[in-house]
Amino acid sequence: MTSITIEIDGMRAQVAPGTTVLEAVRAAGGTVPTLCFDERQAPFGACRVCMVGIAGLPGPAASCTTLCREGMVIDTHDPTARRVAAATVELVLSELPHAPAPHTELAATAAWFGLDHDNLRWPGEQHAERHDARHPYLALQHELCISCGRCVRACDEVQGAFALTATGRGFAANIAAGMDQGFRESTCVSCGACADTCPTDAITEISLLALAER
Ligand code: SF4
Repeated sequence: MTSITIEIDGMRAQVAPGTTVLEAVRAAGGTVPTLCFDERQAPFGACRVCMVGIAGLPGPAASCTTLCREGMVIDTHDPTARRVAAATVELVLSELPHAPAPHTELAATAAWFGLDHDNLRWPGEQHAERHDARHPYLALQHELCISCGRCVRACDEVQGAFALTATGRGFAANIAAGMDQGFRESTCVSCGACADTCPTDAITEISLLALAER
């Protein structure tokens, strides 16, 4: 089979076997927000933000890890999928000590769902500020980490440096560099792939200007 036929929001589309629902929707010009997805990495399906409705399934599915099948009927406006995804983003936002910077992917995703960090329905426990500024080129603000895992995968899959690790669970989930001794002492090669993929600015590259002022 060279292509399969699916339906996206009432429109027929043809995709190659092996295409994910997210890829198909985006190729058709549709929008599905994501948080843990980076097209440079293998899909992870952890954040539950890219949920869509698929006819015949008992509940919403993560579009980034679901492969298209012949005859599949996809609804990107499915109310349950939207509700699940919005609640997930709201929970993530509620744990941050302040609103994400406007240029970040998280800020764009929150805006897409109409969520405002300072006006959430259920403001919850927030992370305390914890910074690691020991690395010469990369700054880590742990309190902004939403545990999407993108930096860890970028480090492993893209760079092969294995300098970052996911740690903890639930509210305590975060990342650690090396054996939690910090970036400077880890196997980090300063490629910046982690900062490049981070959707919240929890990891950022220190600018040349800031370096000159140190
Ligand atoms: S530091 Fe950034 S990329 Fe890494 S897990 Fe946290 S939010 Fe995701």
